[in-house]
Amino acid sequence: MSQFWSPVVHSLTPYVPGEQPQLDNLIKLNTNEHPWGPSPKALQAIHDAANDNLRLYPDPNADALKQVLAAHHGVQPSEVFVGNGSDEVLAHAFMALLNHPGGLWFPDISYSFYPVYCQLYGITPRTVPLRDDFSIGADDYLPNGSDRAGAIIFPNPNAPTGRPLPLSEVERIVSGNPQAVVLIDEAYVDFGAESAVKRIAQYPNLLVAHTFSKSRSLAGLRVGYAIGQAPLIEALERVKNSFNSYPLDRLALAGAIASVQDQAYFEEGCAKVIAARETLITELKALGFNVLPSAANFIFVQHPAHAGAELTAKLRERAIIVRHFKQERIRNFMRITVGTPAQCQALVQALKQIL
Ligand SMILES: *Cc1c(COP(=O)(O)O)cnc(C)c1O
Repeated sequence: MSQFWSPVVHSLTPYVPGEQPQLDNLIKLNTNEHPWGPSPKALQAIHDAANDNLRLYPDPNADALKQVLAAHHGVQPSEVFVGNGSDEVLAHAFMALLNHPGGLWFPDISYSFYPVYCQLYGITPRTVPLRDDFSIGADDYLPNGSDRAGAIIFPNPNAPTGRPLPLSEVERIVSGNPQAVVLIDEAYVDFGAESAVKRIAQYPNLLVAHTFSKSRSLAGLRVGYAIGQAPLIEALERVKNSFNSYPLDRLALAGAIASVQDQAYFEEGCAKVIAARETLITELKALGFNVLPSAANFIFVQHPAHAGAELTAKLRERAIIVRHFKQERIRNFMRITVGTPAQCQALVQALKQIL
């Protein structure tokens, strides 16, 4: 606390990311990183971009990256916005598009950055409880008389539950709220959910956010993007160009472009994670865990006889880190990132000992 702080700073409760411990030999299953490395072609492109051209600013509009992303998703480059990780893309969207009377509606159990951005930008949050089975109820987001959302955001699959919402239900929310921007945060969509990107042409109020951090194994490069009709993208560009002309550096642009161009490696990486996830789910169920259905690269699990905080602490003693959340409704759960088969086996063995 200091007299020098601007007033808004006093009211902030900043987001706390999962820890990035500096110790080796830990099995790190707490921040949903990909257990295998990025495309070797992306690494080569980053290597090749490390040259004297780094004295020059990067392309402020990231046109080459927008072009490969547009081609990849079957949209126009004017329908793509890129940023320094999807967290930055989301932050700009909160400011540019999600601040309206009626408030921003999102699930009570969801990505914990959303309430933080609301505080930062003075947006009124409205948390909508998940159903008892931790699914998103589309009906709960539809206007009820004069009670209607100013904007809506949710992840699909949801985090930290992993539960996917079928595209038909996503569409009910989007088409039922033509007055509001609906932002679908598809950070984990490549691990088994259906993307709303293919509906962009139909809905002027639909915006979809993606990241290179999870399915493309490039969390350290910081690249994210959004897809929507040109007027929504223009709003994001206006905010971005009032904030930072060069959010993506030359290395990030080179690596991201090469990653998108290596489709085979991408698909193989997703398939390996999905296979490891299904094996892990089977083994944890055999140990008595309740496991929510997951279309993500993590699972959300709860044991009837052991508290989530206790299991998290005991795993830590065995050098395995998972994520525990203190929120009342989910305090007995652990969120476990799907690791390599060897990491998953170590986790299962440790849990057998603990139980
Ligand atoms: C990881 C994650 C992000 C942020 O991804 P970055 O691109 O690394 O900033 C956004 N939304 C959700 C739901 C996430 O889990």
